[in-house]
Amino acid sequence: MLKTIPTAIEELPGQRAMLDDTLSSMSDAMNFAVSSCYEHEETNAFRMHHFNYSALRRKFSLPAQLAVVANKYACSSVKEAIKRKAPRPKFSGKSIHYDARSSKIDLVKKTASLLTKNGRLKMKLNVPEYFRKFSDWKVKESNLVKCRDGKFRLMIAIERPTIKSNGTGKVIGVDRGINNIIATSEGWLYEGHDVFSRKQRYVLLRAGLQSKGTRSAKRHLVRMRGREKRFMRDVNHCISRALISTAGLNGVLVLENLKGIRAARHRHEQNWLFSNWAFYQLESFLAYKGEETGVAVKFVPARDTSRACSICGSLKRGQRQGSVFKCKTCGVILHADLNAAKNILHRYTSISGLQSICPLLPTGSSKPTFLTVSN
Ligand SMILES: [Zn+2]
Repeated sequence: MLKTIPTAIEELPGQRAMLDDTLSSMSDAMNFAVSSCYEHEETNAFRMHHFNYSALRRKFSLPAQLAVVANKYACSSVKEAIKRKAPRPKFSGKSIHYDARSSKIDLVKKTASLLTKNGRLKMKLNVPEYFRKFSDWKVKESNLVKCRDGKFRLMIAIERPTIKSNGTGKVIGVDRGINNIIATSEGWLYEGHDVFSRKQRYVLLRAGLQSKGTRSAKRHLVRMRGREKRFMRDVNHCISRALISTAGLNGVLVLENLKGIRAARHRHEQNWLFSNWAFYQLESFLAYKGEETGVAVKFVPARDTSRACSICGSLKRGQRQGSVFKCKTCGVILHADLNAAKNILHRYTSISGLQSICPLLPTGSSKPTFLTVSN
């Protein structure tokens, strides 16, 4: 997770001229590098480095590290402009991008040392008081900006330190489906009925509007897309928060690997959902929230997780009927999604050589406890 701290620079006499000079040379250098990108039809910073580096140093008298930054930054903005079909980027000397090598920033001491044409410049920063609570965050990069009022500000991007799960905590298998968007090996179900019917309504409405094709239909479509996106986002935030906090520090969430899921014959009902529900968004939410709280997210192959009995491993046909799983070998009756979640957990523990810590349901128990969370 990134945050930006705006800080004001307390200039010392003489520093302004040096900053101004560096700012204008850097923008000239970046404009030169941009032209060079178009000329060579290349946006790869590494390849462009060969064409640009010595020219940037010689023509604009830049120190080595700033020449590298100018080339890199120009390449990425050209790449972005081409992607967005935007006109050629032009730099006007309002800001310089600093990476970790061309700058050294200490938010606790409130100092910055920035590379300029005349060497490193040490300056004092005015850091807003409320950023004290982020003092353990890591400085990623920064932008030196000359604002409209003529003052220099340093916008510092900081990153929350990540916590790596050592995997010794709770391990939870997570099944994703349609009746229950989420079922965990611990018996937690996130009921999908409301979400599913709302999602289906959106899909139907969208199809109707698309076939209409009028201008007002198009406007309506755009508004609805926004609503639909926010709705899915909310649900995904809600689910990921609940899962992460259940797993806790050093926990592991085990999911099925959805890559190529449609190619590998999967549960019919899930195919619809996988192509219509933002499962990748849920995965990315889990990944970043996990990094902040020390929960690992692991994937196992999806094959047979809904067909197999989680007690005895039997793979006989027709054991799953709707939301009920009846084992034809050992006779156990389980909630189908919870059975799948347990299989996902077992698969992970057997792959990673851990002993399954999930207590198995006693044979014959027909109704596991249902737990739903409201949105
Ligand atoms: Zn069985």
